[in-house]
Amino acid sequence: MRNVLTVILFMTVQVVIAQPHTHQSQRSFKFPDFNGLKTLKCDFHQHTVFSDGSVWPDIRVKEALLDGLDAISLTEHLEYQPHKQDIPHPDRNRSYEIATKEAKDHNLLIIKGSEITRSMPPGHNNAIFINDANKLLIDSAMGVFRAAQQQGAFVFWNHPNWVAQRPDGVAKLTDMHRQLIKENLLQGIEVVNEHTFSDEALQIALDNNLTIMGTSDVHQLIDWDYNVPNNHRPITLIFAKEKTPEEIKSALIERKTVACFKDLLIGREEMVKPLIEASIVITNAEYQKGSSILNVSLKNQSSCNFILKNSSKYQFHNQGDIITVPADGEVVLQVKTLSKVQEIFLKFEVLNGIIAPNKHPLIEWKYSSVK
Ligand code: ZN
Repeated sequence: MRNVLTVILFMTVQVVIAQPHTHQSQRSFKFPDFNGLKTLKCDFHQHTVFSDGSVWPDIRVKEALLDGLDAISLTEHLEYQPHKQDIPHPDRNRSYEIATKEAKDHNLLIIKGSEITRSMPPGHNNAIFINDANKLLIDSAMGVFRAAQQQGAFVFWNHPNWVAQRPDGVAKLTDMHRQLIKENLLQGIEVVNEHTFSDEALQIALDNNLTIMGTSDVHQLIDWDYNVPNNHRPITLIFAKEKTPEEIKSALIERKTVACFKDLLIGREEMVKPLIEASIVITNAEYQKGSSILNVSLKNQSSCNFILKNSSKYQFHNQGDIITVPADGEVVLQVKTLSKVQEIFLKFEVLNGIIAPNKHPLIEWKYSSVK
């Protein structure tokens, strides 16, 4: 009996020791900081039962914590409340308040936002960093954008490629959007919404100096809509000086974002490049015994699988010219340097990085054995 007890006790201790205490879940998004900026993982387009979503706001907070997000916004439709017979709350800030209470003891920022929901133009637009959603119940479309601006909002155009409003799936600026941009009433655009990516929206962002956004626009459960853990929700990576609402807003205004969609990283070259440079690191390089084949270890410190196309002068002994470096994983490249070198430059076209329609960044990594 005593032996049995000892065994049980021993097993219990083993189990306790084997489970390290961590707040980071397996599925948490991982992206490195760079150049003194914090890489913040954000999803600023989500719905709950307070508009046409299917969940209570606390669920959105719990999902965000599972995904390791830094900031979210619950952007209920101002003009569309299909559940109002069951949830007749007149206060349009209610969803934000419930989420804020739920997030109180966690390191998750809740940004107050609303979705301005109109036919085209201007279609659907999210106003975030607002003070009071109730004051945005305004008939005139231009009027609601002006009221949002008076509240200090950051406003972005949602799913400009949405087939219900664009049957060909092609995002196109209208005169009203041009006017909104001109008056600085519209500052960003969703290049990624839910399960779609728009090359045309990316081009509109680059041509008109708009902030590049990627959002889930989730209505049901993140795990069901995005088949977690095989896939993940789209997010916007925001490169901010600090994790505060003020610095996030500044970074959005300064266009310091990258949209993350499946394995794609979509954004301006000046943001995508340093993010990728920090994501893949050469951790080691050493020659195979008696040969001039250099084993180079590439480590991926991000949640995206990287697809690299060789653009350097070397050929590889164990790979073709297309190399996959798995998320959070490592690959050893056997580089035929022909003669022994003390430093090596590996150059790749990063195929899962998008800096303009059909355009991928060229990035060089250096490794030196000279200390
Ligand atoms: Zn929406």
